Amino acid sequence: MTFAQVQGNPEVKRALTGMVDAGRVPHAILFHEDDGGGAFPLAIAFLQYLFCQHRSGSDSCGQCPSCGKISKLIHPDVHLIFPTAASALSEQFLEPLRRLYAAQPCFREADLLEALGLEGKIPMIAVAESRRLLEKLSLSALEGGYRAVVIYLPERLNAEAANRLLKMIEEPPARTQFLLITHQPERVLTTISSRCQRIRVQPAGAVAEPEFADAQLLDELMAALLDRDLPGALEVSERIASLPSRENAKAFCIFASERLRQMFLCQQGVDLGGDIPPQVRQWAAKCRKTFPRQALEALDRAQTLIGRNVNLKILFADMTDRLFILI
Ligand SMILES: [Zn+2]
Repeated sequence: MTFAQVQGNPEVKRALTGMVDAGRVPHAILFHEDDGGGAFPLAIAFLQYLFCQHRSGSDSCGQCPSCGKISKLIHPDVHLIFPTAASALSEQFLEPLRRLYAAQPCFREADLLEALGLEGKIPMIAVAESRRLLEKLSLSALEGGYRAVVIYLPERLNAEAANRLLKMIEEPPARTQFLLITHQPERVLTTISSRCQRIRVQPAGAVAEPEFADAQLLDELMAALLDRDLPGALEVSERIASLPSRENAKAFCIFASERLRQMFLCQQGVDLGGDIPPQVRQWAAKCRKTFPRQALEALDRAQTLIGRNVNLKILFADMTDRLFILI
């Protein structure tokens, strides 16, 4: 499955390809979908892009051996874990999963249970599954490249299985990508979800929240600035400049300004309660005390200039240069 074959979620696709292109893929990603919302095919398209030897700017080639194996769910280095009957392993149920996915990529949880012959049961991911996964990950990748673990419904891990998985996510083997797909993020062990980059998948046809794209861009921009990675930061600034309209670019500035105000208050020790994203607290701790206020001025200036007929690419590159010096 290429990204082009997955409906909807253009912002999510852009964020995912952007992470790969910039070489900044978080080692664990938690996709939050509504049941049947298409996170599974998106995760597969993402893996294809990550593994593909001939990817173009925004998609995998769909033709190379790696793309072929991933799209059929038969790649030996892509491990698929999903709830099954007590103490059974997912690998015993791969055939029905493959048939289901081929027929209905955006399957629902109930469709999977039916395909596995488990209707009416409460399926679980047993501790044996975590043990098996650890064994597999202790071997090197069979095809010598990346390895990936896709966990469909981590909320169905039993407690011991979840704790073992947590250890793997905490100390991931090299070049190993974890992708989790949940319907109930609040039921995923917090110590697991807090180590994942969260991505909200919109049901096909829904209009994505524009704030999602803004948050993603700002996360990447701040990460590059704090890493003292100017080329990386400028690459993000180009993506801000190429948002669909000047209104979108302005909305990004408004969004980023709000986050900077929160950073400022964090640094002043003002208790803002639980509404502050954890990364804002981290940025506040890492940047200079003068940064939020001066960065706000740079963003205000950018916002004013967007209203005039200024080249956005130059404008955001200039803003990023300033932020790089200020941080
Ligand atoms: Zn390919």
